[in-house]
Amino acid sequence: MSLPPDYHLHTPLCRHATGAPAEYARRAVELGFQEIGFSDHSPMPRDDFDNWRMRLDQLDEYVETVRRVQRDFPRLTVRLALEVDYLPGGEDWIRDLAARHPWDYFIGSVHYVSDDWAIDDPQKLSEWNNRDAREVWTLYFERLTRAAETGLFEIIGHADLPKKFGHRPSQDCAPLYETFLEAARKHGCALDINTAGLRKDCREIYPSREILRLAFQTGVAITFGSDAHAPEEVGMNFAEAVQLARGVGYTHCLRFAKRQRGSVRF
Ligand code: ZN
Ligand code: FE
Ligand code: FE
Ligand code: ZN
Repeated sequence: MSLPPDYHLHTPLCRHATGAPAEYARRAVELGFQEIGFSDHSPMPRDDFDNWRMRLDQLDEYVETVRRVQRDFPRLTVRLALEVDYLPGGEDWIRDLAARHPWDYFIGSVHYVSDDWAIDDPQKLSEWNNRDAREVWTLYFERLTRAAETGLFEIIGHADLPKKFGHRPSQDCAPLYETFLEAARKHGCALDINTAGLRKDCREIYPSREILRLAFQTGVAITFGSDAHAPEEVGMNFAEAVQLARGVGYTHCLRFAKRQRGSVRF
């Protein structure tokens, strides 16, 4: 098996990850990866927006840190990227971030379904008690569709994140998925096959096999990510992720350099 790039790695700058970025790279080399990408949580225009991302004044430090890993691991391809939160109206800020450095790719993620509720935040878990799962799924996939339509992202992160804590609507959500996937195809967004879900209550890769099968049929491309927040999580469960992707028909995933796409067989 040739390992696809692990394109979803965090760094301690986001305040909820551990281990030096060089340790992530060392782990990747040990596992036989040829390519990885750091995609830490991007800053917001206001540093008091929340407490789980780098501050704006740390953005240059982040870039310099990734550059140092590139120099220290010359045989490993190390991409410079961000995981960017999509909130409606945030487009100008994302364009501003995009212009600041020569990024290889942006992962667009929806964590917030309103201005103050990130559905995956363990500290806001009780908010789920006030909500109907179907309502959250609907809000979430509407935002995810809008994120794809902005054209600002190469990759859409963990496309069914609302399942994280095990909440699932009883209704059929296929129409929500189809609308989103059509937007992803049209705007050339790949899906992040994200193994972090296996480490959460949902015990399942993001996105589900159902979504991935629809994605393949729709013609949406993929990338792979461990969403590592610690060095030992790099490349975690990639064998399962590859098996899932192959099982629905994928043979290639995307890679990105300076926001230009290429294709890798896995
Ligand atoms: Zn994180
Ligand atoms: Fe995320
Ligand atoms: Fe992440
Ligand atoms: Zn993530």
